Amino acid sequence: LNCHRTLCLTLKQHRSVWPRFMSAATTKLFINGKFVESHATDWIDVHNPATNEVVTRVPKSTQAEMEKAVEAAKEAFKSWSKTSILTRQQLMFRLQNIIKANMKRLADSITTEQGKTTPDAEGDVLRGLQVVEHCCSVTSLQLGETLPSISKDMDLHSYRVPLGVCAGITPFNFPAMIPLWMFPAAIVCGNTYVMKPSERDPGAAMILMELLKEAGCPDGVVNVIHGQHEAVNFICDHPDIRAISFVGSDQAGKYIYERGSRNGKRVQSNMGAKNHGVIMPDANKENTLNQLIGAAFGAAGQRCMALSTAVFVGEAKQWLPDLIERSKKLKVNAGHEPEADLGPVISPAAKQKICELIQSGVDEGAQLLLDGRNIKVPKYEKGNFVGPTVLTNVTPAMRCYKEEIFGPVLVTMCVDTLDDAIQIINQNPYGNGTAIFTTNGATARKFTQEIDVGQIGVNVPIPVPLPMFSFTGSRGSFMGDSNFYGKAGLNFYTQWKTVTQLWREGDVSHSRAAVAMPV
Ligand code: NAD
Repeated sequence: LNCHRTLCLTLKQHRSVWPRFMSAATTKLFINGKFVESHATDWIDVHNPATNEVVTRVPKSTQAEMEKAVEAAKEAFKSWSKTSILTRQQLMFRLQNIIKANMKRLADSITTEQGKTTPDAEGDVLRGLQVVEHCCSVTSLQLGETLPSISKDMDLHSYRVPLGVCAGITPFNFPAMIPLWMFPAAIVCGNTYVMKPSERDPGAAMILMELLKEAGCPDGVVNVIHGQHEAVNFICDHPDIRAISFVGSDQAGKYIYERGSRNGKRVQSNMGAKNHGVIMPDANKENTLNQLIGAAFGAAGQRCMALSTAVFVGEAKQWLPDLIERSKKLKVNAGHEPEADLGPVISPAAKQKICELIQSGVDEGAQLLLDGRNIKVPKYEKGNFVGPTVLTNVTPAMRCYKEEIFGPVLVTMCVDTLDDAIQIINQNPYGNGTAIFTTNGATARKFTQEIDVGQIGVNVPIPVPLPMFSFTGSRGSFMGDSNFYGKAGLNFYTQWKTVTQLWREGDVSHSRAAVAMPV
């Protein structure tokens, strides 16, 4: 067993019904550098989505435990904020190394709790690791500004300082990457942290805590609490928490943004999406169809940057039969099976919602060209599997277009011109990502200029920026001022301090007080 899990031999009160002879490992809290068993009375079962077997039980942290976590972070801030920037940079170097060495362990945990395939789970870790690598450049990123001799013998310095205790609330779909978007950027700037991972797959975040400890991070610098709404409300309301990073659904994101902001906190909130891929008839057909299929069905469509809507322009619509044939070839299986292209979705409830949205499309007049609802996966009959599904003749008024499906479902539309495609996308409330497939530079340029979406791919289906840039989803997909990671991420976790200083040689005394505004 891992440090963050213990096998309970006595049954505690929790909401599922357990066979008497069985119990599952509990997930611990991480407070002040120690993995501690919660005293919670309410627990949440985490299931392997491929089998629906219980993997672990996650506590709904008690008020006292959450208070202890903030207290530990507050105490640690006193010394951590004063450590040299080189010390914090060294921690990132070590963390980077240790995460790399533990890639397989992290990926296995992700596949077990979240369901994605092993290569995709490794990608989840790698994309987070890149943020840690970027944090290693903190000595350049956190440079301030100086203007000497702003007046006679007077100099101005502006530099960034940490905020204090910050908090992160993460979704289920990237159990390693999204925690790694948050706490490394915060602590490298000198903040301390309280993390609330998704209650549906907290394992990877807990392994990251083990690795952080092994890397030499002082006690209390990062702490982990578990739970759902009460933990979220605690974070939004606690007077000692200065900033909140949230990634997840619209409903939770808007709520946390509003509640946190109302309490005077800095909040960045990345939310849902409906990403469109525009297929021009001049695109490279082979490449485009493969890219589209990978981006629509990879991770069983549970990526906020999945291309869930394809807009075929003009004659490109002739490629639909080919798209279906290729999609049928994808292998649906448990994520750890070597040939799996896509694994299960997170829960039976998620599967039910996905199936309902597919049916709503059919009921509203769309055509179901490929139906993955009744897929059977041998050996994993109890898993939450949905096979690749393609709906066509979808219109913007349909529910399957308006709502985020978050499953392996590609809705397709056919339009006459690029202008029509741009109009549809710009009218959609979300602005997370979009892509165009074309061999014409002028078409690509027009698209990138006229489209009102924060992250654009040109012949790139999932344009998630590398961390020297930032994750710049916009409109309905983001609330806040500073985006995640990159320069914006460091801005989020720091505030400016500006010092005006006068050092004059000789006699500086004045004969009388100057009462006019100094200029
Ligand atoms: P979710 O909103 O259900 O959960 C996210 C976090 O919020 C969890 O820690 C959860 O405990 C908490 N939470 C859930 N409901 C809440 C509520 N009503 N009030 C307060 N807190 C609540 O999201 P999810 O299902 O875990 O993740 C999938 C969603 O996340 C999708 O909509 C996806 O598009 C989005 N997402 C967005 C990005 C992005 O960068 N834009 C990245 C990944 C995922």
